[in-house]
Amino acid sequence: MTKLRKFFWEKYTLDQLSQDEWEALCDGCAKCCLLKIVNKKKIFITNISCSKLEIESCRCSDYSNREKNVKACLKLTKDNLHKNFKFLPSSCSYRLISEGNPLPEWHHLLSKDQESVHRSNQSIQKYSVSETSVNIENYEDHIVAEITGK
Ligand code: SF4
Ligand code: SF4
Repeated sequence: MTKLRKFFWEKYTLDQLSQDEWEALCDGCAKCCLLKIVNKKKIFITNISCSKLEIESCRCSDYSNREKNVKACLKLTKDNLHKNFKFLPSSCSYRLISEGNPLPEWHHLLSKDQESVHRSNQSIQKYSVSETSVNIENYEDHIVAEITGK
């Protein structure tokens, strides 16, 4: 990893970030790895996580191939971010920075602790179930929120 510039998330726009800075900006919440249901233009978020997600760590077990192996995977890039805003929680770091808001205090770039997102209950670690353990017909019973925003 190349050196991250000091306070890059405050000093630069998303377009100006290096690839490493872009990756480091992710808060590790894994909310974007929860399955969504799209119904009549509304997007509902479930507590069901993608089969590739390791729930305990909230890390993808197939990160480098994620786009290839999981069709619905949301691989955020500088070019597609705005198009995908509607699928991201309002707490997502990319949304916050893009909308001119500060990062929350539990973000690892501020806390210097990758676990603070979990301790602050900002990740899906404590409430998610894996896609591999859920009956597909019961997906609607797992809705936890409607995504609002752009
Ligand atoms: S919702 Fe945003 S900040 Fe959270 S894991 Fe996904 S991309 Fe990272
Ligand atoms: S494949 Fe995509 S949606 Fe699935 S766990 Fe990995 S990053 Fe998340």
